[in-house]
Amino acid sequence: MTRRHLTLAFIAALAVAWPFLPDFTTTVFSYIALYAMVAAGLVMLTGVGGMTSFGQASFVALGAYATAWACTSPTATSALAALPPALLPWLGLALGLAITFALAWGLGAITVKLSGHYLPLCTIAWGLGLYYLFGNLEFLGGQTGVRGLPALDVFGFSLASPRVLGPVIWAVLLLALWALHNLLDSREGRAIRALKSGQLMAESMGVDTARHRVKVFVLAALLAALSGWLYAHMQRFVNPTPFGLNIGIEYLFMAVVGGAGHLWGAVLGATLITLLKEQLQDWLPHLLGASGNFEQIVFGLLMVLVLQRFAEGLWPTLARWSAPFLRPGRRRSPREARPLPTRALPAAGELLLEAAGVTKRFGGLVANSDVNMTLRAGEVHALIGPNGAGKSTFFNMISGVDDPTEGQVRLLGEPMNGRPSRDFAARGLGRTFQHVRLLGERSVLENVALGAHLRGRKGWLAAMLRLDRAEEADLLAEARRQIERCGLGEFADRPAASLALGQQRVVEIARALAGQPAALLLDEPAAGLRHLEKQALARLLSQLRAEGLGILVVEHDMEFVMNLADRVTVLEFGCVIAEGTPDEVQRNPRVLDAYLGGGDDVAPAAVPGVVVAGAVA
Ligand code: ADP
Ligand code: MG
Repeated sequence: MTRRHLTLAFIAALAVAWPFLPDFTTTVFSYIALYAMVAAGLVMLTGVGGMTSFGQASFVALGAYATAWACTSPTATSALAALPPALLPWLGLALGLAITFALAWGLGAITVKLSGHYLPLCTIAWGLGLYYLFGNLEFLGGQTGVRGLPALDVFGFSLASPRVLGPVIWAVLLLALWALHNLLDSREGRAIRALKSGQLMAESMGVDTARHRVKVFVLAALLAALSGWLYAHMQRFVNPTPFGLNIGIEYLFMAVVGGAGHLWGAVLGATLITLLKEQLQDWLPHLLGASGNFEQIVFGLLMVLVLQRFAEGLWPTLARWSAPFLRPGRRRSPREARPLPTRALPAAGELLLEAAGVTKRFGGLVANSDVNMTLRAGEVHALIGPNGAGKSTFFNMISGVDDPTEGQVRLLGEPMNGRPSRDFAARGLGRTFQHVRLLGERSVLENVALGAHLRGRKGWLAAMLRLDRAEEADLLAEARRQIERCGLGEFADRPAASLALGQQRVVEIARALAGQPAALLLDEPAAGLRHLEKQALARLLSQLRAEGLGILVVEHDMEFVMNLADRVTVLEFGCVIAEGTPDEVQRNPRVLDAYLGGGDDVAPAAVPGVVVAGAVA
C-alpha cells in the first residue's frame, strides 16, 4: 500500500459511509471540509510561504456576504430580475471572488513586504476591522445578518440538504488540495517554497519574491472566500459571529496542529479541532457540573501540549509512524525531456562584468573603496584578500544584492545600478553564496532546478492543472544533468541538508549552472572540500572556462587559486592593492606585506623563499 492508496481508501470510505451517517454527523463533516479549505490556504501561506495570518476569517466573510448580498438584497435582485434565480448564487460566487481578489491583492501588496511580527499584527488589524465593518453595515443586516439565502442549485438539482451538499463541499476541497499539491510540485512551487527562508537566494535565481508572496496571499484568501460561499449556502443565513478574530486564530491552529507545511495536515487539523470542540462542548459541562465555555480553556491547554510535543504539527509525526507500513510511491517514469532553450554565450574575451569606482559604506565603515574590476568571457578571475577585506560585500555589489554607495556596475554593457538581483540573473549572471543558501529539506534536484527558474515559462494556473508536465520534465532533466556534471549524481534525490557542507557548496554551483550563466560568481567554492574534491572542482571550472564562461572566484586556498586563475585581484581594507597574473601578484611587495604583516588567511605557497607557518585556509 502506498500513501496514494491510503488517500484513495480514505476518500472511498467517506463516500461509502456517507449515506449511512446520521444527519448531524454529515453536517459536522461538511464543516470540517469548509474549515480544511481555509486551513489549506494557510498551509500555503504560513507553512510553506512563511507568512502568518490571523485574518483569514475575514476573507471567509467576504465570500459569504458577497453571495448573501447578491442573492437577497433588493438592489441586486431587482437589477438581476431578468436572470433565472438559480444563477444568483453563482453570480454571488463571482462577486465574492472578485472582491476578495482585489482586496487581498491590495492588502497583500501593502503588508506582505512587512517582516517579523508586523505582518501577523496587520492581519489581526484587518481581521478585526472587517469583522466590525460587517457588523455595522446596515445593508448587510448589521449584527443580525442576512437571512433567506437560497440553496445551491446545479442544473435543476437542488443542493439544499447537507447530505447532498456535503459531498459537493468535499469534492471542492479535494480538487483544491489536488491543485495546490500540483502547484507545489512545479517550477512555481519551488519558488514558493523559497519564500520562507531563501528570499535573497531566490531573487538571485530570478524569482520575483515580492510578487510570489502577494500571489500566495491572494490564493489563500480566495480559498477562504470559496469556503465562505459554500458556508453561506449551507447555513442559508449569514451573520458576523463566525468571522471574528477568534475564528481566524482557530483556522491558524488547524493549520499548525495538523502540520503547517503539509496540505493533508489542514484536513487533519480541521478534523481534530472540529471534533474535539464538539466533544468538549458536550462533556465538560457534565463533568464539571456547571455550564460555561470551558472547552475554550481545555482547548488552549491541549494546544500548548500538542505544540510542545509535536512542534511541526501532527501530520509529519503520523507520516513517520506510518512510514514502515507504507511502500514509497512509485516514481513515474520521466517523460522524454527536450533540451531547454539556450542563450548564446558571448565570445571569449568579451567584457561580461565591469565594476568602475565601486564604493560601499556601511555607516562610517568603508567596506569597498573605489574598486575597479572586470570579468571577461573565458577567464577565471580570482578575488583574494584577508578576512574582512570586503570581498563578499563586493560580490553583493556586482550581483544586485546590494547597491554601491558610489560607482557603476555594468553587466554585458548594461548599467545595472539600482536593479534587483533577479535582473542580473536574467542577463546571465549566476552565483553561489559564502554561507550556503539551500532549501535543506528539499532534494538536491529541486534545489538545482530552482536555478533554472528563468528557463521555464509555465505559470500558476498551468501548474495547478498539470499542464506544465513537459516543461517540468525538461527543467528537471537539465537540473539532473548539471548535478551529474558536478559529480553529485548519486545525491540528486537526497535532502540537500544531508550532504556535507563542502558538497552543498557544489550543489550551489550546479544550481547556478542550471541557469546557464555567462558570468559565474563563486564565493569560497572550495571551502570544506577534501583534496580530491578540490581537484575535481578545479577541473570543472577549467572546463567551464573552456566553454566560454567568465568565472569570478573568491577563495582562500592559494594553491587552488594560483593554479586555476588567469588573473588575480587583491583586496585589502576594501581597496585593490594589486592586480595581475598569479605570478605578478605573488611577487608584488604590497601583497606580500599585506599577507605577511598580520594578514590571516593566505599561504603564499608559490612565493619563492617565503615560508609561512600556520597559514589559515
Ligand atoms: P570578506 O568577505 O572579504 O571577508 P566582507 O565583505 O564580508 O569581507 O566584509 C567587509 C567589511 O564590511 C567587514 O568589516 C564587515 O564587518 C563589514 N560589513 C559587511 N557587511 C556589512 C553590513 N551589512 N553592515 C555593516 N558592516 C558590514
Ligand atoms: Mg566573505
